[in-house]
Amino acid sequence: MSLEVFEAHMRTAIKLARYALDHEETPVACIFVHSPSNKIVAYGMNDTNKSLTGIAHAEFMGISQIQQKFGVHNTEIFSEIILYVTVEPCIMCASALKQLGIKRVVFGCSNDRFGGNGSILSIHQDTCTTPSNNYNIVPGILRREAIMLLRYFYVRENENAPKPRAKSNRKLDVENFPPMNWSKYINREQFLEYFDEDNLRHYDDMTDLSRDVEWGLIDSCQDDILERLEQDCESFELHRVKKLKTDVI
Ligand SMILES: [Zn+2]
Repeated sequence: MSLEVFEAHMRTAIKLARYALDHEETPVACIFVHSPSNKIVAYGMNDTNKSLTGIAHAEFMGISQIQQKFGVHNTEIFSEIILYVTVEPCIMCASALKQLGIKRVVFGCSNDRFGGNGSILSIHQDTCTTPSNNYNIVPGILRREAIMLLRYFYVRENENAPKPRAKSNRKLDVENFPPMNWSKYINREQFLEYFDEDNLRHYDDMTDLSRDVEWGLIDSCQDDILERLEQDCESFELHRVKKLKTDVI
C-alpha cells in the first residue's frame, strides 16, 4: 500500500463528502474497499439531517450496504476491507468497525470531540472491546481537504442561521491548519510502514504530508459521484460472482 493508493481512494471519499455538503448534510463520507481486488464494495455519507437519526453516520450507512449485499451474519468479508473515511470515526463507529473485524481504517482529519481512533479513545487497539479484532489505522490522508469541507459547512450553517453567531461569523480561513499530531495516532515505525522515509520530517514537525490543498476536488459539485460509485460496487459484485464460479470449477 502506498501513499498514491491511499490518496486515490480518499479522493473518492472527499468527492462524496462534497456531494453530501451540497445536499444539506455534514460533509463526512466514506468508501469501503475490498483490499485483495482494490475494488469499492460500498460507500456511505452522513445522513443524520435527512433521516433525523443521530446514528446515521457515514460508516453505518456503508456497513448497512455491505450487510444487505452479503448478509448480516457474514462478517468475514470485513477482514478484507479497508475503510477510507474523510473524518476519523467516532467512538461508536470505531467500535462497530472493530466488532465487525475491519482490516484497516484510513482517515483524513481528526475528530477532536468524539474520535475513536486516537483523538479521544483508541478503540482500534484497546484491550476492552474484542481485542482479537484490533485493526491498524492510517491518519492524515488529504487532511486539509477534509478540514476545508467541514469549514465550508459551518460557515454556510452560520450564514443560514436566523441569528448568525458573532463568534463563528468569521471569514472562511483557507490558509491556516492546526498541527498534525501524528504521534497521537501512530508511532514512527507505523508511520514508516505507510510512508517513505522522506516524509518522516512531517511526523517530527507535526505537519501535513502536503501543504497544497486540491481545491478542484472540494470546490466543484460532484453530482455524478453516486452513479459512479454504484457502477463500481456493481462491478465488484460481478467480479465476485465470476470468481466464485471459477473457484467452484
Ligand atoms: Zn460515527
